[in-house]
Amino acid sequence: MSTLVIKDLHVSIEDKEILKGVNLTINTNEVHAIMGPNGTGKSTLASAIMGHPKYEVTQGTIEIDGENVLEMEVDERAKAGLFLAMQYPSEISGVTNADFIRSAINARREEGDEISLMKFIRELDKTMDFLEMDQDMAQRYLNEGFSGGEKKRNEILQLMMIKPTFAILDEIDSGLDIDALKVVAKGINEMRGEGFGCLAITHYQRLLNYITPDHVHVMMQGRVVKSGGPELAQRLEAEGYDWIKKELGIED
Ligand code: ADP
Ligand code: MG
Ligand code: MG
Repeated sequence: MSTLVIKDLHVSIEDKEILKGVNLTINTNEVHAIMGPNGTGKSTLASAIMGHPKYEVTQGTIEIDGENVLEMEVDERAKAGLFLAMQYPSEISGVTNADFIRSAINARREEGDEISLMKFIRELDKTMDFLEMDQDMAQRYLNEGFSGGEKKRNEILQLMMIKPTFAILDEIDSGLDIDALKVVAKGINEMRGEGFGCLAITHYQRLLNYITPDHVHVMMQGRVVKSGGPELAQRLEAEGYDWIKKELGIED
């Protein structure tokens, strides 16, 4: 089992404090969902975990099995088993999707232990079939001209191929039609298990109809203010966030 532990995390952007003491522990074999109103710092949390240079950690710790993640460069974080699906994945021109995935897989392996081209192609084909993806997506340049739905589906392809220990999925469900949403959920559910933990950040409860989270957290004003099980997400869907604000005496 692996554990990702976030303790008292404070993060600033351009000297403005956005995260004000986030505490969160995620084990492998668990899916956690973070919900919360817009602008409460959910994406900031994802970016800080992945080491985006714009996000300055001013206090607190992030550790995987006791290893200090904050001291790692972005590529070292990936090597340590972290995977981030971004809210707005960027285009990387001149690199095909397949090349990108293969180098990401090899970056996590020791020298001399790289995945063989045959094995890679076999796995890629199988996974693309599973995700009902068009085979020519593999040879297209990464994210270039991908539709919103294709990008998200592709992130799940990357996830399933790279097999990270922990995935941070930021709004993987936004802008998806129901078929694409189901495929995304199918991929994440397929990953669930001993060697995999997931933090799914979502603005909507919709995704959680297809991926039943083990734990649900509500983020407000830069903190995790409430945690519970799947029933918490259902209550948020039905009643919104006002009751939590009242309960905690939070002003808008
Ligand atoms: P959420 O994902 O919960 O909607 P974000 O983490 O995107 O929230 O944003 C939290 C706060 O940080 C917002 O007030 C937002 O305006 C601010 N913020 C986020 N990213 C940046 C940035 N790159 N530069 C300046 N402010 C930012
Ligand atoms: Mg936002
Ligand atoms: Mg966000």
